[in-house]
Amino acid sequence: MDISYIINELGEDREQYFNAIAPPIIQTSNFAFRKMDDLRQAFADEYSTYLYSRGLNPTVEILRKKLAALDGAEDALVFNSGAAAIFAAVLANVQSGDHIVSVDKPYTWAQRMFNHILPRFKVTTTYIDGRDIEQFERAILPNTKVIYLESPNSWDYALQDLRAVAALAKAAGIVTICDNSYCTPLYQQPVLLGIDLVLQSATKYISGHSDVVAGVLSGSRERMAKIFNSEYLNTGSGIQPFNAWLLIRGLRTLPMRLSHISATTTKLVAFLKQCPEVAEVIFPFDPDFPQYELARQQMSGACGLLTIVLSTTSLNAIQRFCEGLRHISMAVSWGGHESLIVPKCAGMPAGQFNPANREHRMIRLYVGQEEPDYLISDLKQALDGMHG
Ligand SMILES: *Cc1c(COP(=O)(O)O)cnc(C)c1O
Repeated sequence: MDISYIINELGEDREQYFNAIAPPIIQTSNFAFRKMDDLRQAFADEYSTYLYSRGLNPTVEILRKKLAALDGAEDALVFNSGAAAIFAAVLANVQSGDHIVSVDKPYTWAQRMFNHILPRFKVTTTYIDGRDIEQFERAILPNTKVIYLESPNSWDYALQDLRAVAALAKAAGIVTICDNSYCTPLYQQPVLLGIDLVLQSATKYISGHSDVVAGVLSGSRERMAKIFNSEYLNTGSGIQPFNAWLLIRGLRTLPMRLSHISATTTKLVAFLKQCPEVAEVIFPFDPDFPQYELARQQMSGACGLLTIVLSTTSLNAIQRFCEGLRHISMAVSWGGHESLIVPKCAGMPAGQFNPANREHRMIRLYVGQEEPDYLISDLKQALDGMHG
């Protein structure tokens, strides 16, 4: 299906709403029935009828159709956060006594779920280096039910060979779940490589304006119906109509936003690579990236997020750099209009900073919609000023 069609037309039945170009926000909690048989039918199969907005809602439905099509999936559900999408995807596929194989250092709240919540229900997790397919083979146990992937990871951009992992999992009857937040479906479609469930934080590029928290989960109609009827309805973690409307609005400009960010990111990578204050630039589409070949093969683009390792071993100098930026803000998240940094060392008590550990000198940079020269001059003056 054509991306332009998906983004501008798919799911939009304009004759239902005065031929308005922008869809209405159907801000209702419930839907009325004239016939008792119809109400009975809705109770029996809520996934086919508008009954109550914790389940289906017409504004959300437009968004679901577009997002499923972008992912190349039969169906999608939209949650109130990416974390809720992760929770539902994993919970729907494990029971007490089961085992999960996860890539090392998955997104924080996936990791917290594996480490703190699931063990209470006797579900255990083994972490592996997902860059090596043999590690998956070795970690799989008779009770392994889920393989959890994130490719690329959002700090060091480690990739997994999605096609190979999907084939391995299918042969063993294991469900694969992949966090695709870094790429969005525009730059990678894991479903087409054989992955069962694909999720992304729509808070990032889909929203694109730093004003919505949301998550998407896509997969086969059968898997999504199962999740809808249990985790989705039971946790009430579906997206609200107004936020769904904002995401439809965000989707309209997604392709052009991503191409602008890609072009700017390429320029920033080139600038940062020749800065003596920068020891390393980590970016999947940089030819020096260790998994560059795989990145080129399985992703059609990379943009926005990159990590630099500063040369300095002084925490004070790192702090001066971060606080010295005039336009690039220090904040979590990414995918919005504004460029951001997150220093790794802010995630630990200052006393634990170890200058010999390169990870502690990492700074993640998100490249937003500003012009490249504007960002380069901000980075340059902050790098110049970092030695006090
Ligand atoms: C932000 C993020 C999430 C979680 O999404 P929220 O919308 O913040 O709940 C999951 N995975 C990755 C890689 C993320 O960056």
